[in-house]
Formats: sequence, C-alpha cells, structure tokens
Amino acid sequence: MNKFEQLGLSESLLKAILDLGFENPTEVQEKAIPLLLEKDTDMVALAQTGTGKTAAFGFPVIQKIDVNNRNTQALILSPTRELCLQITNEIKNYSKYEKGINVVAVYGGASITEQARDIKRGAQIIVATPGRMQDMINRGLVNISQINYCILDEADEMLNMGFYEDIVNILSTTPDEKNTWLFSATMPAEVARIGKQFMTDPIEITVGAKNSGSATVSHEFYLVNARDRYEALKRLADSNPDIFSVVFCRTKRDTQAVAEKLVEDGYSAAALHGDLSQAQRDGVMKSFRGRQIQMLVATDVAARGIDVDNITHVVNYQLPDEIETYNHRSGRTGRAGKLGTSIVIVTKSELRKISSIERIIKQKFEEKTIPSGIEICEIQLLHLATKIKDTEVDHEIDTYLPAINSVLEDLSKEELIKKMVSVEFNRFINYYKKTRDISNQASGSERRERDDRDGAPRENNNGGATRYFVNIGSRDNFDWMSLKDYLKETLDLGRDDVFKVDVKEGFSFFNTDPEHTDKVMEILNNVQLEGRRINVEISKNDGGGRRDHNGRSSGGSFGGGRSSAPRREGSFAPRREGSGGGGFRSDRNSAPREGGFGGRSDSRSAAPRREGGFSSDRPRTEGSSDRAPRRSESFGDSPRPRRPRRD
Ligand code: AMP
Repeated sequence: MNKFEQLGLSESLLKAILDLGFENPTEVQEKAIPLLLEKDTDMVALAQTGTGKTAAFGFPVIQKIDVNNRNTQALILSPTRELCLQITNEIKNYSKYEKGINVVAVYGGASITEQARDIKRGAQIIVATPGRMQDMINRGLVNISQINYCILDEADEMLNMGFYEDIVNILSTTPDEKNTWLFSATMPAEVARIGKQFMTDPIEITVGAKNSGSATVSHEFYLVNARDRYEALKRLADSNPDIFSVVFCRTKRDTQAVAEKLVEDGYSAAALHGDLSQAQRDGVMKSFRGRQIQMLVATDVAARGIDVDNITHVVNYQLPDEIETYNHRSGRTGRAGKLGTSIVIVTKSELRKISSIERIIKQKFEEKTIPSGIEICEIQLLHLATKIKDTEVDHEIDTYLPAINSVLEDLSKEELIKKMVSVEFNRFINYYKKTRDISNQASGSERRERDDRDGAPRENNNGGATRYFVNIGSRDNFDWMSLKDYLKETLDLGRDDVFKVDVKEGFSFFNTDPEHTDKVMEILNNVQLEGRRINVEISKNDGGGRRDHNGRSSGGSFGGGRSSAPRREGSFAPRREGSGGGGFRSDRNSAPREGGFGGRSDSRSAAPRREGGFSSDRPRTEGSSDRAPRRSESFGDSPRPRRPRRD
C-alpha cells in the first residue's frame, strides 16, 4: 500500500495520482486529506504556497461530490485569475478518471455569458475569483444556495487584495450547514475574523511554523548605494546564469522602468503590473511559464498567486512597505521541495528592515557582496564549461563536420578550448573591466550593530581570505547553508571558518582564512561525493590573472586559465539565428551583437545573418560600451524557445 492509498482516496483518484507522478503525499495532504474525507468538518489550514494545498482540498472535494447531481456543490475562491485557472486545471487533472465531474472557472476579463453557460450545463465545482463571483451572483447567473463545500484558498492574499466585502457577501448566500475549508499562508486579523464569522469549530492544521518562511528558501541581502540598485540587479543576473526569477518593485512605474532597462540591455525580461491589459498580462505569464522570460519584473499585486514551478530566485529590487509582503514574495520560490533563494538589494538606510524580516520569518539572512566583474566572468566561464560538457550533440551537425574540421585542424585540443572559451570571456571581460566595484559592505559599526541585535555570525568579508572554486553545486542538492555545513564537517572547521558560500548549478565558491588553505586543498581534493571526485581550486577574483600557489591556472576545470582568456582571437562559433534555441535575452535592436557561442537567435528573422558563418567576434555595433554583454545562449538551457521580438 503506498502512502496515498493509506489516506483513504478512491481508485480513480489514485490512478490520476499515479499519472501525475506524485510519489508521496506532502505534509499538508497527509494532515488534511484523511480528516476531510472522514468528517464533515470546517478546517483552517495554515500552509505556504507550493506545499501541495490544491490537492489537499482538491482530492477530498472530488471524492465527496455527487456526480449524479448536476447542481453546484463546491465553490473554491482564489485571489487571482491565474490561480483560479491553475486550480481548475489541477482539479481537472485529479478528476480525469472520475466520470461526470464538471469544473468551471469563473474570473474577470473573460466573457461572463460564456461562463454562465458553462455553469448552466451543470458545474458541480466552481473555481472563482471573488469579484467575478459577486458579479455573477448579483446578475442571478449562478446558484450557490445548495453548496456543501466552500474553500477559501490563499485567504490572506484575497483579503490583502481588498476582497473582504465580496467574500463576506458571497459566503452569506451559501447555506449555513456547508463545510468551509480555509487555506492561508498567514493568519492576519481579517482572516481570523472571516474564520470566526463563517466557521464552526474548525479543525486547525499547520504545516511548518506559523508565519515562518519556507525552509527551502534561503535569504540573502546585498548592500549597495541607491544609485547602484540597477547595476546590482544586472550583476546578480549575470552571476546566476540559470536565473529564473521574479523581481519585485514597489510601484508600477519602477516595475515598467526596470523591465524596460533590462530588455534594452539584452536580458529576457518583461513587466507584469496592473496597467497592462488582461491580454498583455496573459501573454507575459505564458512567456514566463514557457521560460522565454528569465526575469519577470512585477508589482506585488500583479504577482499574487503566481504559481510557476522552479523559480530559482526572488529578487526584492526594493523591499515592500509591509514586512508581511516579504513572505508572499519569497514564497514564490522554494516550492514543491525545490531550493530557492530570496535576494534583497538593500541600501544602508533600509538595513534595519532586514532584522525585522528575520524576526518574522525566523530565518537569518546572509549578507553577500555583489560579485566583482572578474568573479562574474569566472562564473560565466565555468557555467559555459559545464554546459559544453552537458550539451547533447545534435547529429544534424554531422554534415558540416568535415568542413569545420578542416578549418580547425591545425589547433590542438588545448588551443581549441582556449579559443572557444575566449569567445565568452572576451565579451564579459571587455564589459566588466571598465566597471567599478559596487559592493557596499556595511561598515564595521553597522555590522556590529546588526550582529549584536540579531546574534548573526560575523563573517570575514575583507580581501585577506582565500576563495575557492569547487565542482559541486545545487545540482548536488546543496544550497549555501547545506554546503557550508558540509564543508565545515568535512574540513573539521569552526562555525565561522567557511564563509561567502555561493552555490551555482554545477559548481560553487567559498572562502576561508588563508591559514586553512592547505588543509582545504589537501582534504577536499581527496574526498568523493556519491562516487564523484571533488575538485577544489583556488579562485582569484581580484581581477589579476595571477597564478595560484600551485602554479596552476585558477578559474576552474576547463583547462583555460584566465590569463590566457582575454585575447581577441577569432571565434569559430556558428550563430544560431532563427533556431529557436537559447532564450537568455531578448533583442529589440536590429543590429547584431557578437554572438559568443551561438549569439542570438531571433525568431522573426529566419535567415541567418551575414556574419553568421564561422566568425562572429566582431565589435559590437550599437553604443554598447556601457552595456553588459549578452550571455551565451546556445549552451544555456537550450530547449527554451525564444521570445518573439517586440520591435
Ligand atoms: P500547490 O501548493 O497546490 O500550488 O502545489 C505546488 C506544486 O506541487 C504543484 O505543481 C503540484 O502539482 C505539486 N504537487 C502537489 N502535491 C504533490 C505531491 N504529493 N508530490 C509531488 N508534487 C506535488
């Protein structure tokens, strides 16, 4: 008997669960499902988004519906159209082997008459946003006077959005004997008031600590001057090549401005805010879900209820006014057991807010430094090397290989690697060598003040430390906290001896004081992790190109030292315009940029560009000196289709 069978679910649901690939129930499912199936009860469930809530109420409601009765028996209220559609889809998936169940989504921005028609055909379950539901009730288009179940999903968000009146009105038209199940991440006074007014002896279940952030999210802050906020955002994106993020701004105007700047600088970004039409918002969300957009710049209101899996980072470009909102923001990542990072770009005057948030989320922030230009180059290069290693060869290229081989036949493997890697490196170094250091560490006294207040460990942030590269990362299920613990244990070092741990997908960086360097190199280079040898090297992020004390080139495992990289050797990388791959950055400007490994792919211009061929290392044509270089695309997560241009 698997764990889902033990919950008392019907055969048809178990079959659907098998199709969905859910192996074990999540905590909220384990707690809620048996209770809801066994009893006719009210319930308050405190659970963050992404914990499997939809199935926790969806499975029981499906099982309890009388399929032979065409009346509306269950109403699910959710804060946004997005979420409403998601829940409807999930319920449809869960009930696919349950004959005769009809689920209808009811939300604003779509034809009310069509929705009314769908309901008339017999919808046992209605999933609705409060505003449209109220509208339908007022027009007599829906009858919820006989429902048995009412579910309030993301109740705190619905109330945050000002739906209190609507919810109260809607609930007032439902029968008293129904069961109400209220799901909420937090329990502010208004939610408690609804509970009191409309529920009888609800069973309360809590998943994780009340009001605490998800354990799968780690929190970091970067201290910068206010004028460097945007530059910091770009560097954070560049130093996380696989970033898939929601960037939160405080106002619609800032949201639009930041998104526009990012697009102008070549990132694949888009804005999501209330001034966009519904169709525009849908388009943006579709592209985001399809991962054609890597950075979704959003206001809090517009981003409510976004349920997109695998968001790697939430970036607080500006902190929210209400600390509670931080919880909602960071809950967009670290979902369904995945790890995520919530980043705050903060100025000195806002530093106090960090401590207040720490108290609310009961988790510590790690203070990080905005990576230097050279650090970003290093990260990009290592990322590129990893991607080269992982890229599956498409045998379509076999036809071209003899020609390519003849062009490259005089190069040794080492030369070839250097040249390939230089394509990327040249572009990044050319950009970043002109930029200044923008990290703005808290001064000793500010730091002490913070540390004394919150008891956070004080870490060595000055330049005297040794920085290492190690070939394990988030792919090996590490986040910065678990990697720090692993290193401390493996190296038998103290609590604060390992610091500035930065975890990327296939590799990571960390620091120790120089006195531990020999020990780190000696021990770590002889350790295996699940049968794979760990490789640690000293990384030099000081912009030097010096050699490390072992005489080896620093900078990673691909064999090309940094010292050799910035030469402007011609590259051989074919461009991939029109190929539909890549997807890191969008392109509004028609002038081609140098492409690195693959350059741009442009879904509109089907014909390859002239300079495509086999050389692309040409100077950039648009006034690009102040712009970040484009990231390599063909070694990115290549199945991502590109976003169409919006010229
Ligand atoms: P939710 O909190 O309902 O928004 O769920 C978050 C995500 O987790 C959704 O993509 C669900 O399909 C997925 N999910 C829900 N329950 C499980 C489970 N038991 N095992 C694996 N994934 C699940």
